[in-house]
Amino acid sequence: MSIAVAVTGGKGGVGKSAVAANLAAALWRMGHRTLLVDSDVENPNLHLFLDVNPRRIMPISVFTPDFDLGKCTKCGKCIEACPEKAIALEEYGGVRVLGEVCIGCKVCYYACPQESIRGGARGIGYIRAAVKNGLRLIAGELKPTESRSALAIYKLMRVVKDDIKREKYDFIIVDTPPGVCSSVLQALRIANVAVAISEPTPLGLETMRMTVNMLNTMKLGWIAFINKSGISQGCEEELLSLCRESGAQRIFLMPYDEEVFKINMSYKLLVESDHPFKKVLLDLADHIRELAPTRANGFQPKNGGSKRLGSFINPHQ
Ligand code: SF4
Ligand code: SF4
Repeated sequence: MSIAVAVTGGKGGVGKSAVAANLAAALWRMGHRTLLVDSDVENPNLHLFLDVNPRRIMPISVFTPDFDLGKCTKCGKCIEACPEKAIALEEYGGVRVLGEVCIGCKVCYYACPQESIRGGARGIGYIRAAVKNGLRLIAGELKPTESRSALAIYKLMRVVKDDIKREKYDFIIVDTPPGVCSSVLQALRIANVAVAISEPTPLGLETMRMTVNMLNTMKLGWIAFINKSGISQGCEEELLSLCRESGAQRIFLMPYDEEVFKINMSYKLLVESDHPFKKVLLDLADHIRELAPTRANGFQPKNGGSKRLGSFINPHQ
């Protein structure tokens, strides 16, 4: 059975992509068939960590209605039927679609009694893929002029699901977009467990609160990963308390270190360096290997661990 791990965080720039790329590389180096998914479609960057140039394997297309106003009787049935309220009646009596809101569901097409809605596929982005020494990457990419990232991620995840069925991976690591929004929910759809990333700053604390509320509402088990542990912003204890009280299964602490920062900023993999703090990521990978996740019962570590083992804390002991 595959284990899908979503690496997520309420705030951009906390090192989410670096953790996702390093976790996938660590699991692959441990001998597991691993798929890395970049669902941060507005800013895909995992290929930089793998040092590959993924090729476009297919467009991401959505149905977009086009009205034949010659046949349209202005009956309004398409407006009533549209679940997104994406069709507007014009003052002069015509109808038009609000492209930013339309999700391409095609309900209007079937609702129109006059067959006056045509339409076709409109490309909003691409799905790209690459393989680096057996570690596979699938990435979504939204066109710069498009804003429908949730829809693009929905389409990306359908491709990912098909790939998982074919390839039988041991682990799937999904880098989600930052924030707490419909795009993130789409990326979390296949996850058995999440790694919630934050940092001990006031904003990091608040965004972690939103992230864990979302994960707990979804009943998705989660592990906390605190980057820049030890910086003097006065929030680390509050952040740790939040994680413990909100149900973190483990809390991993990556100490703040200039060299780690430089490695991440230059898109190198910490697990492939000789920096001692790579142990935190290797411990995280070890922990992921020990999970037996299901959506129904959360997930259970196969062994309890001690209160503080190396780089992580067991909040329950
Ligand atoms: S495709 Fe769906 S969302 Fe778009 S206008 Fe038609 S009914 Fe509304
Ligand atoms: S349902 Fe068809 S005929 Fe009625 S307003 Fe919409 S496009 Fe026009």
